[in-house]
Amino acid sequence: MPCSLSTEQIAFARRFHGHWCPGLAIGIRAAEWALLELGHDTDESIVAVTETDMCGVDGIQALVGCTFGKGNLLFKDMGKMAFSFYRRADGKAARLLLKSKADGPKDAGREEHAQWLMDAELLDLFEVQAARWTLPPKAHRLASLLCSVCGESTMETRTRRMHDQVLCLDCFEAREPRI
Ligand SMILES: [Zn+2]
Ligand SMILES: [Zn+2]
Repeated sequence: MPCSLSTEQIAFARRFHGHWCPGLAIGIRAAEWALLELGHDTDESIVAVTETDMCGVDGIQALVGCTFGKGNLLFKDMGKMAFSFYRRADGKAARLLLKSKADGPKDAGREEHAQWLMDAELLDLFEVQAARWTLPPKAHRLASLLCSVCGESTMETRTRRMHDQVLCLDCFEAREPRI
């Protein structure tokens, strides 16, 4: 079955990403799988893990509602076209890996390749596997501390203690406290 998303959904993803390309088409199709199997995110009910920071991830942010800002889009820099989705309510989860033969017709241009991706069967595009990572805990607000050196407010988990001082990572890495 070709992409079952509405023209409005696809147009929104294109506007969000800013151009049309095969990478976005891959992300849109992965998002389609997530919407069909797990539903749209409501208040961080869905978590996505992306193993690429290329175009495709914008399709997921736009359509599934897993975003970097909300903390329910996690980036594991593996350099693979793979996206995992988790539903917190019942633990349903899967990892979608783009199949190596999803390159489209031989010598296809970008436009043709993108269209081919939109027309393909979902299961011809992705290998659906068991999720690899345990579900990360729900994002919550953490306390911030002031860095003893630069005075900038820094999330506590990103600070380091040295000689009874609290240092932000910038200052800790510089290792030359000016006080
Ligand atoms: Zn793109
Ligand atoms: Zn500092």
